[in-house]
Amino acid sequence: MTTYNILADIHTHSISSGHGSNDTLTDMIKCARTRGLTLLGISEHGPDTPGSCSQSYFEGISLAPRYRMGIRILYGVELNIRNLQGDVDLPDMLLSRLDYAIISMHPPVFTPQTADCNTDAYIHAMKHPRVRFIGHADDGRYPVDYRRLLQAARDNHVFPEINNVSLLPDGYRTNGYENSRQILAVCKSISLPVLLSSDSHGCAHVGDMSHSLSLLSECNFPPHLLLNSNPDRLCRICSGNFDELP
Ligand SMILES: [Zn+2]
Ligand SMILES: [Zn+2]
Repeated sequence: MTTYNILADIHTHSISSGHGSNDTLTDMIKCARTRGLTLLGISEHGPDTPGSCSQSYFEGISLAPRYRMGIRILYGVELNIRNLQGDVDLPDMLLSRLDYAIISMHPPVFTPQTADCNTDAYIHAMKHPRVRFIGHADDGRYPVDYRRLLQAARDNHVFPEINNVSLLPDGYRTNGYENSRQILAVCKSISLPVLLSSDSHGCAHVGDMSHSLSLLSECNFPPHLLLNSNPDRLCRICSGNFDELP
């Protein structure tokens, strides 16, 4: 049986993203440590998400310490794609100071379009500085053309995630299981690495990739295409060094 090593979780949210979690970044670092992670990335929602951080949060966070309680910390953002042109909710000047950005489609910011239009919007959004990951492209509410999206991702050194929340039986996204299978199949065929994400809001699910790991096993996904198992390589990829990519 294939084993996958999870040492990093970089799609997480603290109290700063709103949504009812009361856990601070310090709480989450403690959880990451007890769960055996060595790298934690905090990716609060961009300012267009109701109740999330303002621009001033993202201006200051790049100065925060990179190691706390023995855990390496990356400071990113989960951006909202705003429109078909792929505009996002932080200016490029601010993005360039963060460690990485995830691009996602969320209601009420982005109204679902056709698969072709949604795919175009994702591809346009890849041009912004620090965009390295596509957030929950498995969400059936926002259909996409996976082959076209993931080929463009490969060309732009951007990586899709397998989002554990999308695989929950009572999840609010739709068709996450089947769509994640499709993402894994295309990634396997073009040797595009994937990121597993807990998308934890607060401590409760930091490092929890349980459903995603089951799916990887079921799909016989090659372990060398998993970004979470090598935190040093993941950090180098975030900083724009792609020498170790397959
Ligand atoms: Zn999201
Ligand atoms: Zn998220």
